[in-house]
Amino acid sequence: MYFNEEHNALRDMVKKFVDKEINPKVDEWEEETVPLHELFKKMGDLGLLGITYDQKYGGQGLDYWFDLVFLEELGHINAGGVPMAIGVHTHMATPAIHEYGSEYLKETYLKPSIAGDIVSAIGVTEPDAGSDVAGLKTKAVRDGDSYVINGSKLFITNGCQADYVTLLARTDDKPGFHSFGLFVVPTNLPGFVVSKKLDKLGMRSSDTAELFFDDLRIPAENLIGEEGEGFIIQMKQFQHERFYALPGTYIKARDTINMTINYIRQRMVFGKPLIKNQVLRHRLVDWITEIECLKHLTHHIVRMKTEGLDATREISMGKLIAGQLSFKVSNGCLQMFGGMGYMNESLISRYFRDSRLLSIGGGADEIMREVIARFEGI
Ligand SMILES: Cc1cc2nc3c(=O)[nH]c(=O)nc-3n(C[C@H](O)[C@H](O)[C@H](O)COP(=O)(O)OP(=O)(O)OC[C@H]3O[C@@H](n4cnc5c(N)ncnc54)[C@H](O)[C@@H]3O)c2cc1C
Repeated sequence: MYFNEEHNALRDMVKKFVDKEINPKVDEWEEETVPLHELFKKMGDLGLLGITYDQKYGGQGLDYWFDLVFLEELGHINAGGVPMAIGVHTHMATPAIHEYGSEYLKETYLKPSIAGDIVSAIGVTEPDAGSDVAGLKTKAVRDGDSYVINGSKLFITNGCQADYVTLLARTDDKPGFHSFGLFVVPTNLPGFVVSKKLDKLGMRSSDTAELFFDDLRIPAENLIGEEGEGFIIQMKQFQHERFYALPGTYIKARDTINMTINYIRQRMVFGKPLIKNQVLRHRLVDWITEIECLKHLTHHIVRMKTEGLDATREISMGKLIAGQLSFKVSNGCLQMFGGMGYMNESLISRYFRDSRLLSIGGGADEIMREVIARFEGI
């Protein structure tokens, strides 16, 4: 199989961390938002924030199977908002710095991010540009040794707590994909404003912000890669973001089913346990079968990544299935809990609320279908 003793040791370590440092606190964080500096420092000290990253910057330099193990174990967290906040830091805002950033950016931002000393966010979406990323309007204008940034970003995870935002901005008015830059934008500079902390349906332990940039001046060396290449770099970074979603989804879906099986075993209806109804058992088995398929597609993607192959097609398929499966399973399991499933005191109601995001965020289902259709020549 793919996992050796070292992978299993990492699994044990992450499991213990989730059981001790995260799950006992998630109910509180669902009310108050997860304190990221405190959590990330603990994770950084354990080497959990740069599993595949270069050891030169404090990463572990491990293979993608270790990354998979890490993400699977995060799937056992009892609230989606916490792994999402972590995933933004490890798989959404930092991969481009690791792959395309200068030595200066790696030393100044990647290294402390891996150590858990600073918190990152990824700023792509805007009020008038979500799915249509190339429609974004935030501008970065070169002025001597600086870029001056003006505009706004919407729905930014970790936005209220981040020390920097990896920001996609327009550097040229010309249409096309070569008019953008990807920047590291520190949030302690004049002109950075968190205009609003947003209230949302699920993922309530994670903070989501509207950000405003008003003549914010950053050093030109905060550009990641080349000017004009930001869009392409961000499209590559999206592959890490979308992959991040897959392991946690099949783990959480299976946990949800196990929790539901326990409930319907003991819940008596019409004089017998609910689980005695074949229709419910068959429904559960259908989902378990689909979970197994998503797991093996994810393993296939890890093999492709390990071999250095482009897995965009497969990752898009996985993201599409994951969004639909997590909603289907949480919705269907909530139905089996009946009225108890509708109560906020039951975990299934939280999983149901959290699950809705996956078909929208990080490239909605419709966008995944467009990507797959392009690969299929349809
Ligand atoms: C909780 C949360 C956290 C988020 N975190 C971040 C973050 O950290 N950083 C960040 O940059 N963004 C973040 N986002 C934004 C997210 O990535 C966008 O919401 C997503 O890309 C969709 O964009 P939109 O909301 O503007 O929808 P729109 O682009 O307005 O689309 C609306 C609907 O139309 C569909 N649609 C679009 N085009 C087509 C088409 N051609 N054919 C058919 N249907 C179509 C879409 O799929 C969608 O269902 C977050 C969003 C949420 C809700």
